[in-house]
Amino acid sequence: MVSDGAGNEAARRRTFAVISHPDAGKSTLTEALALHARVLTSAGAVHGKGDRRGVTSDWLEMEQARGISITSAALQFAYGDTVINLLDTPGHADFSEDTYRVLAAVDSAVMLLDAAKGLEPQTLKLFDVCRHRGIPVMTFINKWDRPGLDPLQLCEELSERINLPAMPLTWPVGFAGNFHGVQDLRTGEMVRYERTAGGATAAPEEHLSPEQARERYADDWEQACEESELMLAERGEFSYQRFLDGTATPVLFGAAMLNFGVRHLLDALVEMAPPPTPRLDVDERARELDAPFSAFVFKVQTGMDRAHRDQVAFARVCSGRFERGMNVTNARTGRPFATKYVQQVFGQQRSTVDEAYPGDVIGLVNATALRVGDTLYEGKPAVRFPGLPSFAPAHFAVARPKDLGRAKQFRKGVDQLESEGVVQILRSDRRGDATPVFAAVGPMQFEVAAHRLDDEFGVSVELDHLPYRTVRRLTDSTQRRVIESSRRAEVLTRTDGTDLALFNDDVALGALQRQHPELAVEHLIASGDG
Ligand code: GDP
Repeated sequence: MVSDGAGNEAARRRTFAVISHPDAGKSTLTEALALHARVLTSAGAVHGKGDRRGVTSDWLEMEQARGISITSAALQFAYGDTVINLLDTPGHADFSEDTYRVLAAVDSAVMLLDAAKGLEPQTLKLFDVCRHRGIPVMTFINKWDRPGLDPLQLCEELSERINLPAMPLTWPVGFAGNFHGVQDLRTGEMVRYERTAGGATAAPEEHLSPEQARERYADDWEQACEESELMLAERGEFSYQRFLDGTATPVLFGAAMLNFGVRHLLDALVEMAPPPTPRLDVDERARELDAPFSAFVFKVQTGMDRAHRDQVAFARVCSGRFERGMNVTNARTGRPFATKYVQQVFGQQRSTVDEAYPGDVIGLVNATALRVGDTLYEGKPAVRFPGLPSFAPAHFAVARPKDLGRAKQFRKGVDQLESEGVVQILRSDRRGDATPVFAAVGPMQFEVAAHRLDDEFGVSVELDHLPYRTVRRLTDSTQRRVIESSRRAEVLTRTDGTDLALFNDDVALGALQRQHPELAVEHLIASGDG
C-alpha cells in the first residue's frame, strides 16, 4: 500500500533540536517558539533551577505547571502551514548518550549561544555530533538584552574555534540593556521590538526603513550598519547551500526571554531548514517518503519509579502515514508489534496519536520489546535502518556484583543494558569477562545502570571509577602492547568491536606518542553510523 500524501506532509515539516549549554536559555526559547506558534497563550516565568529534579525533563515540568501538552521527547506545533517538531535534547544533570542520539532523529539543529559566553563546552560536544552527521546548524545568539560580547567577536569565534563561518541574517541594533531590535540583512530594514510585561506575549514588531532607523537610533543604527557591512565584505553573500552542507551557519540575534528575534528564527527555519528526506537503509537504499510506514526508535525511556514503571519508546517516522492501531513489524526480531497505545503527548493528559507523518515523533507505550535503534515498518518489503551510533564515552567504571553468587543475573542484566544503550560495555582479556567496564557519556548513565541492575535483576553492583580522561580509537590493534606498556593507559574493546585507547590525560598520551611516533590513534566522536 502506498501512503497518499506522506511526501506532501513531509514537505511541510521541520524537525529540529536546540543544542546548547545549560543556562543558555533553551527552555526559555522553547516557550518563546511555542508562543509565537500560538500553542501557548501566555509564557509565564521560567521555572527556577532549584526545584528541578534530576531526571525530570524540563518540558514535563512545563507541562505540569501549565497544563499544556508537551511530551518529554518532542514538542509539536503549527506555524502557519508548517508543522514544527522540536525534539528535546536533555542538557542538564541528565546529559548523556540519549542527548546525542536525539540528533540522529532531526533534520537540522539550532545552536543557541549566550551572548555573554559564546561557545561553551556542552554546545561544542553537541556541535561535533551535528558536524559528524552532516546536520545543518542555524545559530541563535541569545540574551542580547544584557551586556555581552561584541557581535563581530561572536561571529569570529564561530569561524576560528569550530570552522563554521557565520552568515548573519540579522544584526543587533543597540545592546547592553538597550537592545532596540535588529537590522534585517536581507531587506535592509530595521525591525524594532517592543517589550511586553515579562515577555508575556509575542513582542510587537515595528518595521522601519533605513532612513527612519537612522533618524531614531542614530549611532546605534550606524554602528549596526558598519558592523554588518564589515561582516558581509569579509564573508560574501549568504549561501543556502553552505548551510545545508554544514560549512557555514546562518546567525540570528535576539532575546528569548523578551521574545525578541524569535519570529525571525521561526521564519528562517520554515524557509531554510530542510524538511525530512528519504532515509538510507542498511543497504544504503533510500526509503522514499511515500513508501509505506517506517520509523526508527531513537530513545527508550523507562520510568525510574517502580510504581509507575512503564517503558516508552520514541520513534521518528521516516516514511508513510502512521495510523494508530496499525500492525507493524520490528525489523530486528521479525515480530509484529501492535500500536494500539501510541501517544504523542504524555504527562497529565495522555492523549493518543491517531496519525503521524515523516519527521513526526511517536511514543510507543509499554514497548518492552523495543530497543534503541530498532526499525519498525508496515507491510512489505522489509526495511531496516542503520543502528544508532555509539558516542565517545568520557566516564569509565569497573562493574562487579557485590554478591558473587549473582554473577549469572549480573551477566544477563549487563547484556540487557548494553542492548538498550543505557551504558557502553567494554572488556579486555586482562580484566576478564566477569568484570566489564561501564562507559558513559554522562555519569548519570551509571546511576541509571546500577538502579536497573538492582531493580530488575536483583543485583547490587559495585562501581570502581577509572581515572581515564583522554579517549582515542586504536586503529591498529597490533599496537595494543605499546599502550599497555604505560601505567597510565589501557585498551578496552567495546561490544561493537571498537578498540578504545584510554589515557589518564593528554600528558600521558603525549608522552607515549613521543616515545612511539608510529602510534596510530584517532579522535572518536561517534561510530557505527555508517
Ligand atoms: P536552559 O538551561 O538552557 O534551559 O536555560 P533557561 O531557559 O532555564 O534560562 C536560563 C536563565 O537565563 C534563566 O534565568 C532565564 O530567565 C535567562 N534567560 C533566558 N533567555 C534570556 C534572555 O533572552 N535574556 C535574559 N536576560 N535572560 C534570559
